[in-house]
Amino acid sequence: ELEIAIKVVIVGNGGVGKSSMIQRYCKGIYTKDYKKTIGVDFLERQIEIDGEDVRIMLWDTAGQEEFDAITKAYYRGAQACVLTFSTTDRMSFEAIKDWKMKVENECGEIPTVVVQNKIDLMDQAVVSPEEAETLSRNLGCRLIRTSVKEDVNVASVFRYLATKCHQI
Ligand code: GDP
Ligand code: MG
Repeated sequence: ELEIAIKVVIVGNGGVGKSSMIQRYCKGIYTKDYKKTIGVDFLERQIEIDGEDVRIMLWDTAGQEEFDAITKAYYRGAQACVLTFSTTDRMSFEAIKDWKMKVENECGEIPTVVVQNKIDLMDQAVVSPEEAETLSRNLGCRLIRTSVKEDVNVASVFRYLATKCHQI
């Protein structure tokens, strides 16, 4: 039987919660001071979509995003993408369009979702709900609001992308 594996790239400015999301989804853990793991390229988790086993491989950027130094190897073969911004970081929201362009340049058009992380900090929000919705609509992507900290909606992000990939 053919095994289905999907490589998902998770991009967005530094500090939005990408590494935490990968740790949360694949290991079920959350730590406030997650140290950038050197030498670990990706983690994976197996799920079932329409009765079939799908291996979700999540690639982490290990901090290169802060220096605009993500290598082509990071994007190679990616079949789905998470564009992440933080509820409390306006710059990270404004950078989403650029991240979409970068991924599109490297991977073409692949199933993509916009993730607004840290919704547990809604009282400190610097992006209105309407702005987030408008941006996502303009990019043609679904918007999913998550809290990696409180484990809200994290699994839905990858289930949604895996389902989209499966339909192609
Ligand atoms: P990365 O640079 O995008 O990989 O971000 P990290 O995963 O290193 O997270 C940056 C900081 O945000 C860390 O202190 C995390 O613990 C914190 N963080 C991640 N997700 C959440 C969340 O959903 N809520 C809150 N309050 N903090 C979060
Ligand atoms: Mg990181």
